[in-house]
Amino acid sequence: MQEMLQKFMLYYNGFESRPVFDNVEEMLKWSGLYGLTRRTLEEELIDAGLNTQTISELVTVITRINYGQSTSISGLAGAVSLAGSESGLWSIKGGNWQLAAGLLKTANATLHLQEGIESISDAGDYYVLKSNKGHEYNCTVTVVATPLDEVNITFIPPISIPPRKMQHTHTTFVRGLLDPKFFGLSSVSDIPELIGTMELPDIPFSCISVRKKHGEHDMTYKIFSRAKLEDALLDQMFSTREETIRIDWPAYPHYQAPEDFAPIILDGRHLYYVNTFESAASAMETGAVAAENVARLIISRLPLGLRAGLSSAAVPEPHIESSAGEEEGSRRVDL
Ligand SMILES: Cc1cc2nc3c(=O)[nH]c(=O)nc-3n(C[C@H](O)[C@H](O)[C@H](O)COP(=O)(O)OP(=O)(O)OC[C@H]3O[C@@H](n4cnc5c(N)ncnc54)[C@H](O)[C@@H]3O)c2cc1C
Repeated sequence: MQEMLQKFMLYYNGFESRPVFDNVEEMLKWSGLYGLTRRTLEEELIDAGLNTQTISELVTVITRINYGQSTSISGLAGAVSLAGSESGLWSIKGGNWQLAAGLLKTANATLHLQEGIESISDAGDYYVLKSNKGHEYNCTVTVVATPLDEVNITFIPPISIPPRKMQHTHTTFVRGLLDPKFFGLSSVSDIPELIGTMELPDIPFSCISVRKKHGEHDMTYKIFSRAKLEDALLDQMFSTREETIRIDWPAYPHYQAPEDFAPIILDGRHLYYVNTFESAASAMETGAVAAENVARLIISRLPLGLRAGLSSAAVPEPHIESSAGEEEGSRRVDL
């Protein structure tokens, strides 16, 4: 994992020693991380000498918490998941939302909230984006910054990307108190603040954690599960339940090594896709690194006249790693 982190840190190198990439495969090969997307975490760990008990009773618990999946995820997603379980993780005081807010402010961007893009049409020199509010936006460059696997955006002409399943994480927030009897315990105080689970078919959730203690017998819990937790089950798990909120998130890709990657440039022109990188590993930081590469790629491919007005510090040398080319027999789906 330390080796993976060291390699990932290369993406923080200065512009002069870090190329701009037009496909995820080359981006991963440059840092030495591509191989980890070709094999499962379990294969990697067995080769590293871990025994099966440690894998099923410790590592699996972590991958179920972070990705809702078993150790059959790719080695890279697994290493990112394990990194996320280490101490010393950073977050922004007051909430990580401030990062996005700060970026929007610095970029002087206009944000259209509560408005979805329904179609993106290539009009020659620009794209026409039509929204569900009936608005049209003409854009020289269009960046898709959401996973395309479950959204309903029509591309004209159609684009082609490999099929990818998303792992749904059902998140249930409950205010109340867990029942120790459900866990074979005699007292509430015996229930740990984080309950992780192994990969066993009769366990209905991936993890439960205490989000907030309002009082000795009044907590807010967060539960992750692969399927909706029905009221009947929650009534068995909790002795009291005042409020329940459920969110079904298409949270991250369902990893299946060897991974296939959608292109970053979707149409050979100026239609870009950030979230293809999530097939390597999905997290806020990997998303930011992928987005920075896309920003530099756009600048490097824009005609000089259109680059005017961009800060010179942000303009990298137009050094693009060559495309990996389409692998023979790769599966693709038309959107
Ligand atoms: C339950 C859960 C726990 C997680 N825990 C962690 C964690 O601990 N650490 C971590 O690093 N990561 C975590 N992640 C992953 C992290 O949330 C994602 O990696 C990150 O949010 C991806 O950012 P993004 O900007 O690429 O996509 P998103 O955050 O999904 O943003 C995409 C945006 O696009 C918008 N959108 C979608 N379709 C359209 C459309 N047609 N038109 C206009 N807008 C559209 C969406 O509304 C959304 O606002 C977790 C995810 C989940 C679900």
